[in-house]
Amino acid sequence: MEIKEAKRHLQMVDVKTQYLKIKEEVDRGIQEVIDSCAFINGPAVKKFAKSLGTYLDAEYVIPCANGTDALQIALMAMGLKPGDEVIVPAFTYVATAEVIALLQLKPVMVDVDPESFNLSPEIVEEAITPLTKCIVPVNLYGQNSDLEGIMKLAEKHKIFVLEDNAQAIGSDYIFSDGTRKKSGTIGHIGSTSFYPSKNLGAYGDGGALYTNNRELGERMKMIANHGQSKKYVHNIIGCNSRLDSIQAAILDVKLKHLDAYCSARQEVADRYDLALINVEGLEIPKRMSYSTHVFHQYTLKVTNGKRDELKSYLASKGIPSMIYYPIPLYDQEAFKPFTEVTSLPITEKLCKQVLSLPIHTEMDLEDINYVIQHIKSFFKN
Ligand SMILES: *Cc1c(COP(=O)(O)O)cnc(C)c1O
Repeated sequence: MEIKEAKRHLQMVDVKTQYLKIKEEVDRGIQEVIDSCAFINGPAVKKFAKSLGTYLDAEYVIPCANGTDALQIALMAMGLKPGDEVIVPAFTYVATAEVIALLQLKPVMVDVDPESFNLSPEIVEEAITPLTKCIVPVNLYGQNSDLEGIMKLAEKHKIFVLEDNAQAIGSDYIFSDGTRKKSGTIGHIGSTSFYPSKNLGAYGDGGALYTNNRELGERMKMIANHGQSKKYVHNIIGCNSRLDSIQAAILDVKLKHLDAYCSARQEVADRYDLALINVEGLEIPKRMSYSTHVFHQYTLKVTNGKRDELKSYLASKGIPSMIYYPIPLYDQEAFKPFTEVTSLPITEKLCKQVLSLPIHTEMDLEDINYVIQHIKSFFKN
């Protein structure tokens, strides 16, 4: 097939086109908040929290300012002490481990499974010590970690599990008996981000926590609001982390479309899979049996050592791509004082191999084929 060179601008995400399709609904939601002037903790925030709780089947939803705050508030609610160990993958976004160090807890950085890109029960089990108080599986790129196995370990050792679900909201965890739960609701607490490019993205910053544990739910609610139980009664040290009402109104509209957005991403991924499965020199993302995949990212492994060359080649054709993540967390200057880990084989390898392709809700067949054809032509040379 001939490759069409003149191509309109391809993007990693296309928030603008997505907005135009729901503009009326979104604009009305924003206007209602402005008319009410209930900018902070207004009815829109409560309404969205309720909708999200229903969608996830989570009893407690605590909206907050961003996904990083969500992680921090979750760890604060667990009542951990300085020096307590928290198991975290070295192959993740900085925020996941940053909050651990910030709270004077010890980030125990571990490797990930090469197929799922996530923590596995085997990896976690090896890292558990008497000081381990929490495990933070990151449901990376839109797919759950093996949470059933991780929860078994957590129960056995009486350890909390905090799911960093910033990338996988909307996906299902599939238990071995076939039952399903929404990602983020399998661990004791799930945290998420509404950063604009996330699968459920606001038009600014936002985040949320969810749990079915009453004690944790009440504590997180208090912590996000200055540790306050009643007005001017402060029981514990908290912080100030709020989702503003305008973002909540936007998110309440977008939540209704989340399943359709996930399906649109899955369709793009299916087409990439089909076209790229037999290309020598790369591996398509593996779909794990215990999870649906909502493809926050579609991430290839370039196994012939030419990842950076492919990235430049695609860029020369007007195709953006991203490396999530280029540097293991233990190699970051900031974490040197917090970890003795200097090398983890799978993490090292993935940092050199991964490449995420454009994937979003607004990609059409022409976009997808354009990307596919250029990848194929690169590997033919
Ligand atoms: C985006 C993201 C976060 C942080 O979310 P913010 O809203 O930007 O603070 C945390 N963890 C992971 C895995 C993320 O992808």
